[in-house]
Amino acid sequence: MTEKLERALFSDRASRDVIEARLSVLLGDALSKVSDSCVSPTLDILKFRHTLESMTFDETNDLLELLDWTIDSMKDGLVQLTNPRYFGLFNPAPAFPAECADRIVAAFNPQICVWSHAPVAVEIESHVIKQVGLRAGFSAECGGHFTSGGSEANNTAVLCALTASNRRFADIGSCAFDGQPRIYASQESHLAWLKIGHQTGIGRNAICLVRTDGHGRMDADALQQAIERDAAEGMAPVMIAATAGTTNAGMVDPLGRCSDIAEQYRLWLHIDAAWGGALIASDRHNSVLNGIDRADSITIDAHKWFAATMGTGMFLTQRTAMLQEAFTVSTDYMPSDDASVDLYLNSMQWSRRFVGLRLFLSLATVGWRGYARHVENSINLIDRLTTQLSARSWSVANNSQMAVACVVPPSGHESVDKIVKDVVDGNDFWISATRFEGMPVIRVCVTNGKTTIQDIDCLVEQLVELAK
Ligand SMILES: *Cc1c(COP(=O)(O)O)cnc(C)c1O
Repeated sequence: MTEKLERALFSDRASRDVIEARLSVLLGDALSKVSDSCVSPTLDILKFRHTLESMTFDETNDLLELLDWTIDSMKDGLVQLTNPRYFGLFNPAPAFPAECADRIVAAFNPQICVWSHAPVAVEIESHVIKQVGLRAGFSAECGGHFTSGGSEANNTAVLCALTASNRRFADIGSCAFDGQPRIYASQESHLAWLKIGHQTGIGRNAICLVRTDGHGRMDADALQQAIERDAAEGMAPVMIAATAGTTNAGMVDPLGRCSDIAEQYRLWLHIDAAWGGALIASDRHNSVLNGIDRADSITIDAHKWFAATMGTGMFLTQRTAMLQEAFTVSTDYMPSDDASVDLYLNSMQWSRRFVGLRLFLSLATVGWRGYARHVENSINLIDRLTTQLSARSWSVANNSQMAVACVVPPSGHESVDKIVKDVVDGNDFWISATRFEGMPVIRVCVTNGKTTIQDIDCLVEQLVELAK
C-alpha cells in the first residue's frame, strides 16, 4: 500500500504517459467547450464548498478521477479568460507556447535563484530581459529580472529608488531620511503603490497621488508643484512613478515631462507599463510610449498583453548596480554568491520558478512581428467598437491609443451599473463598470487573441439594446 502511494506521488514513466495523454484530452475538451459557453461561473459554489469540506484527506483518491473533477469544476467555476467574449481586466487567454513552458518547467522544476544550479534557465531569462530592455530603447548595459507580477516589479523599483536616494536606507530604513520619503504617482495609477508604501516601511502616506489633467494622465505642473511643496516642508522626494497605460483607461502620463522633472530634482524615474508596455512590439504603435527609454526602470507584465500565463512580471533597469545594493546578502549555505548572475542577490525572491521560459518560447515562436500583430489586432477591434458606439450616439470618455475603451451611453439612457450588470448576468460577455476622471463608465478591453469582429459587433448590439 505504502509503495503504491509513493508511486502515485512519484510516478513511473508508464503511468505518467497514460495520465498525461488523458490530461491532454480532458483539457482539450474543456477548453473547446469554454469558447462557446458562459463567461461567468455557473457552478453551484455552495454545493462545491460542501464537497470540498468533505475532503479531509483521510481518504485517498485516484489521480485521473481527481484531474477530471478539477477540470470539470474549473470549466464551470471561473470567469473564463479563454472565452473570446471576456473583455476584462488585462487578464489574457494564455499563449500556447507559454502553456508549454509551464509544463516543461514543472517537469524539471529548476531552482533558478543561483546561476550555477540552472545555468540554461538563468541564461534564457537574462537574454529575454535584455532583449525586452533593448526593444524598449534601453542601452546595452540594461538588465533586470522576472517577477511574480507588476506589483513586485514596482516594489523593486521603490527599493532601488530609496537605496539610490540614501545609501543608509539599506541598514536603518526610513530613519535614513530626515523627512518622510515621497513617491509620486497619478490619481489614476495602480493602487498597488499604497501597499508598496506600507510594505517597504515608508508608509502609505509616502505615496503622493498627483492630480490628473482631466484625461486620465498625470498633470505634470501639479507634479512639479507637489515636489517643490514637499521639499519645502522638509520631506524627501525620491521617485516619480509614471504610468504608461493606466489600468482603468489605457492612458499614458506625459513621459517626457516626467523625465525632465525627475532629472531636475534628481529623482528615480520609474515607468509602470505593466499592460501597455507590450506596445514596444509594434512599430506602428510604439510611439505611444515615446520617452520610456529615459526611465531608470520599467515594469512590464508579460502576463497581460504578452499573454503569458499568470505570474510573469518583468523589472527592467538601466541601473543594474542598484539591484545588488538593494538585495545583496551573504550566506554560507548558498552554493554561490556571484552578484553578477545570481538572482537571489539581485531581486526580492529567493527560491524562484523559471517563469521567463513562457515569454521566451512565445517570442521565439512568433517574434516581435507576431506580437505586433497581436497588439495591433486588439487595438483595431477596440477602434471598431468605439466607432460603432459613437455612431449610435454613445461617447468615448478615454482618448486611449491602447486596446481599452471607456464608453458612456447617451444621456437619459439606462445607468452604467445597470447595463454592466445586465451584460454580465446575460453571461455572453464579461465587461466592467468603473470610473474615469470621476465619471461612471463602461470598460471594455480586448485581452484575448481569438476575439473576432463578430464578437465586437454582438457586444455593440447588446450594449445598445440594454441601454434603451
Ligand atoms: C496590473 C497592473 C499592476 C499590478 O500588476 P500585477 O501583475 O497584478 O501585480 C500595476 N500597474 C499597472 C498599470 C497594472 O495594469
